[in-house]
Amino acid sequence: MTSSDGLSETSLLLTSADVAPVHETNAAGASPFLFTCDHYGRLLPKKLGDLGLPESEFVRHIAWDIGIAGVAERMAVLCDAHLVAQRYSRLVIDCNRPPGAASSIPRLSEATTIPGNEALAAEEIAVRRHAIFDPYHQRIDAIIDARLHAKRPTVLVSLHSFTPVYAGVARPWHIGTLYHRDTRLPPLLLRALRAEGDLVVGDNEPYAVSDLTDYTIPVHGEARGLINTGIEIRQDLIADQFGQQQWAERLARILSEIEAQLRAERLI
Ligand SMILES: [Zn+2]
Repeated sequence: MTSSDGLSETSLLLTSADVAPVHETNAAGASPFLFTCDHYGRLLPKKLGDLGLPESEFVRHIAWDIGIAGVAERMAVLCDAHLVAQRYSRLVIDCNRPPGAASSIPRLSEATTIPGNEALAAEEIAVRRHAIFDPYHQRIDAIIDARLHAKRPTVLVSLHSFTPVYAGVARPWHIGTLYHRDTRLPPLLLRALRAEGDLVVGDNEPYAVSDLTDYTIPVHGEARGLINTGIEIRQDLIADQFGQQQWAERLARILSEIEAQLRAERLI
C-alpha cells in the first residue's frame, strides 16, 4: 500500500491479506434503530500470528461474542436497520473499551494470559488502534452524523453476548439490558422483555455500562444525546442458527413495539 491511498497507518498492521475491520449490513435501512456490534468477529491480522494462543482459545468468549453476529445480521434484515460491526477479535483490541484502559488490549482475559499482548511498545498499541479501533468508531461517527444531518431519528442499540459461566459462576439471565444515562429506552425494553413471561431478564446484568469499562454507548450514544441501550444475550441460547433466528425474531418484534411507543411519546 502507498500513502496516497489514505491507508498508510492501517497498512502497518493490516495488509492486502487481511479484510477491512468494518463490516456493514443494510446501510440503507429505514429503521430508526442503528445496531452496533463491537465483538462481532474473531479475526486476527496476519502480522500478529496467533497472539501465542492455541486455536481452542479463539472459539471461546474471550475472543468474541459467540452467536451475536448471526443474531445481529438477522435483526438488521428483520428490522430494516443499519448494522455496523467490527470483524477482528477483541483480543487484538477491544472496541468497547476506552483506549488506554487495561482491558483495551488485554494481557489477561478470564484465566487466559495472552502472550502476544505482553510488553507492547507504545507504537504497537497505536498501530492496533489506528488499524482497527479508529476506523470502526470513525465509521459509527460518520453514520450518526449523516443520519442527524438528514434529520433521521436514531436509536443506538449495541448488541453483545455473554458467557453462561464466568470464572466458575453460572449466570441465570437469558438476556440483559445495559445502560447508564439513558432513562428512555432501557425501561421500555426491560418492561417488554419481562412481559415475554419466559425470560430471566437482567437489569444492568451481567454488566452495567460505565465510562471506564465501555466505549460505544458512552461515546456514540450518551455523548451525542441519542436514545440508547446495550443488549446482552447469553451465548448458549444463540450458539446455533436456530437460536439466532429465534432471538432475532423475538427482538425484532419487541423493538417494533418499542419504536411505536417512542413515536407515540414523540421521543423520535
Ligand atoms: Zn460484547
